[in-house]
Amino acid sequence: MSTLKAVRGTRDLLPSETALWNRIEATARAVFARYNFGEIRTPVFEDTALFARGVGEETDIVSKEMYTWEDRARAQSEKTQSLTLRPENTAGVVRAYIEHQLGETGQLQKLYYIGPQFRRERPQKGRYRQFSQIGAEVIGPTSAGSESPLRDAEVLEMLATLLDEMGITGWTLELNSVGSAADRARYNEALRAALAPVVDKMCVDCQRRAVTNPLRVLDCKVAADQPIIDTLPVISDSLDEASRVHFAAVTAALDAAGVAYTRNHRLVRGLDYYTRTTFEFTHGGLGAQNALLGGGRYDGLSEMLGGPRAPGIGFAMGEDRLVLTLQALEAAHAPKADAFIAPLGEGLNPAALALAKELRRAGLRVELGEGGFRLKKSFEAADKTARRIVIMGEDELQSGILTVKDFATGLQTKVPRAELAVFLSKPAGE
Ligand code: ATP
Ligand code: MG
Repeated sequence: MSTLKAVRGTRDLLPSETALWNRIEATARAVFARYNFGEIRTPVFEDTALFARGVGEETDIVSKEMYTWEDRARAQSEKTQSLTLRPENTAGVVRAYIEHQLGETGQLQKLYYIGPQFRRERPQKGRYRQFSQIGAEVIGPTSAGSESPLRDAEVLEMLATLLDEMGITGWTLELNSVGSAADRARYNEALRAALAPVVDKMCVDCQRRAVTNPLRVLDCKVAADQPIIDTLPVISDSLDEASRVHFAAVTAALDAAGVAYTRNHRLVRGLDYYTRTTFEFTHGGLGAQNALLGGGRYDGLSEMLGGPRAPGIGFAMGEDRLVLTLQALEAAHAPKADAFIAPLGEGLNPAALALAKELRRAGLRVELGEGGFRLKKSFEAADKTARRIVIMGEDELQSGILTVKDFATGLQTKVPRAELAVFLSKPAGE
């Protein structure tokens, strides 16, 4: 019998990892509480129509990534229904907002969630088929101030605080405005016109998007299309006065709060519901999947789902990517030994111990290897635990000249034993 394994794109999190997950979630809950957000938990599966309408038919998520099935009726009174594992949580939160008439309170609703999402994507580092998002939404009637640019800036400032408190250093906030529905319609026309003469040189997806939803061309990741995309008009030129004023107010409040950002004219985000402010926080340490989180304003979403007017803004952070980033940062900062002593053969173990004692007594942090290991294995162990490796072979023992390799620079140096402690106490890379 073949052994059963976790499904492709899904993972088990063992105790060695869940501690970090719990720490991240605890920090998120504590920060959300200080900004006066409350938790919402919506079902893991919903009516497929919610995502088709709320996320948009033309998006990658709806067109190819959803786990959808026909749920058979169990009784005469039930109908067969198309259901979908949630690929994101904003549509579910807004559905709940409408269903429970939360707008009737007249107050802004500030809701956060933490939980699994599902997308049929090609699994790779930072990209899974089941992944977890930590997200929040600020939504409410216009009379509660839900359209105010201050709400956008407050959410962005909260995110900066949240990432800082989690210990994620080195993030970048990329910011843009995609304007109102009317601005986007105007921009789509400008794009359509600019694309007409060049689109036949672009990928098939872009050829389709140029007809159905030109804005999505900006999401294209195909390298050969990038020079063409760089020549296309930018959305900021299509924004009307109200959208410009709104965006300027967001950036002014960010400046006042000392939150740094960069403008990214191509940031239109993969979901159709965004209006005005869109943003992403990225981190260089993540490689190709560099987005830690994304979000934006969605002033028309409630109405698209059949609800009252309820402007809002929100974001979703990829918890798996927060974990990867923190693991990499912690590994980079983990203290390393000054030296790893590698005896060349078991016969040199005693001499290596004597050398280790000498260096340790001189105050150095030293890792002692094992002469029974092959040199390659010693090098691998040394690279993980120490900044330098010191080779102790028969020649070195006789001559009293030791070979030291610095992992940061790759440099190999011959050092007399009497000078070794001083040499090793210098910072690595020098
Ligand atoms: P990407 O461009 O990386 O596909 P996206 O625009 O599809 O991201 P969103 O729908 O905005 O992502 O989701 C918000 C965040 O959720 C992303 O910034 C990312 O951190 C995380 N995320 C999205 N899809 C996945 C996935 N398949 N696996 C892990 N994390 C994910
Ligand atoms: Mg995606």
